[in-house]
Amino acid sequence: MIYLDNSSTTKIDPEVLEAMLPYLQDEYGNPSSSHYTLAKNAKRAVEEAREKLASLINAKSEEIIFTAGASESNNFVIKGVSDYKKMYEKSGNHIITSKVEHKSVLQVCRFLNGEIYMNNEKKRLGKIITPQVDRGYEVDFLDVNEYGQVTLDTLESTIKDNTSLISLIWGNNEIGSLNDIATLSKLAKQRNITFHSDATQVLGKLTIDVDKISADYLSFSAHKLYGPKGVGAVYMRKPKRTPVDITSLIHGGYQENFYRAGTHAVHNIVGFGKAAEIAKRDLAKNIEKLEKLELQAKEMIKAKYPNVEFLGDPNNHIPGLIGMIIPGIVNEMFIKERCEDLAISAGSACGIGEPSYVINEIGYGNVSSSFVRLSLCKHNNMNDIHILLK
Ligand code: PLP
Repeated sequence: MIYLDNSSTTKIDPEVLEAMLPYLQDEYGNPSSSHYTLAKNAKRAVEEAREKLASLINAKSEEIIFTAGASESNNFVIKGVSDYKKMYEKSGNHIITSKVEHKSVLQVCRFLNGEIYMNNEKKRLGKIITPQVDRGYEVDFLDVNEYGQVTLDTLESTIKDNTSLISLIWGNNEIGSLNDIATLSKLAKQRNITFHSDATQVLGKLTIDVDKISADYLSFSAHKLYGPKGVGAVYMRKPKRTPVDITSLIHGGYQENFYRAGTHAVHNIVGFGKAAEIAKRDLAKNIEKLEKLELQAKEMIKAKYPNVEFLGDPNNHIPGLIGMIIPGIVNEMFIKERCEDLAISAGSACGIGEPSYVINEIGYGNVSSSFVRLSLCKHNNMNDIHILLK
């Protein structure tokens, strides 16, 4: 099997699995329990993982909150900040996001905007949904440029006196374009507006230094980083937060500083920590490898399909993510025919079976069924690309 769908999920790293196993076997203590050794070992393991993830993004460990994945992190930040600002600070109820966010941002924003949230997403297709209930929030979904990026001008012209939260994706999961988070978050800071970015696709793919951006919150997920599924995190900038300005996600015990109650999934958190440690250690090497492989792959694809169009910002995108239109192919059929030995994707894993809204937003709606995404990882090599092309 040639696996080229690493934006969807990655294969767990053997070093990560090895680090996790003791916490599924002999080290089964509850980190929130009493002061006996088994519990203390689990607590130490959770805290070490927190330090490792913090170190990857140049944050402090107390700025990391573990969650069950990036969807949860996005829900937590957007609902939590919005609720806190409206209910406690009385400081605004206007949220700004973009039209090409991951669904775990888009749907929360639609929910807060008062749209009826149906469980069967298919029922929503093609419909213009108008607000159905008044939850007390207003949301603006920003247009993007031809590469799927939000420009400073678009953001600036949408900010209002009651804007309380801006949430913009860092690296797009379908076409790989990067938003200029440093610049966009700086504007938010100047206007005293909380800024969140879904950084799920960029962790371990580029250098994240929280001192170089003004974001207050970032979302992450371990399984995009050769870690386990079911664990994610929120980076929450600390200095100005006294004592909280986000409503808890899960009310209950005191875990995760009261923000997310519930017994820690110690093995998963340890796995995330190990994955972060490895990502930091190998970051430069991995970026170089992915950039080179991507370039070669693109040349070979172009040679075979001269009409191919690579989407996204060629100079500013996630290394190894190739989103392209191959005229004449029907992506789902193309993939089905080869699915036993080849894993590539027709879009995001959360939107399977639907035409991609990201492709639509950047003006390729009429050919969205010819969209194919390859997302390479550190384990891929040129042989994989040769087999793909065959
Ligand atoms: N945000 C982005 C940009 C993603 O690509 C994904 C995963 O597909 C998520 C959020 C959701 O991550 P998780 O699977 O951990 O909930």
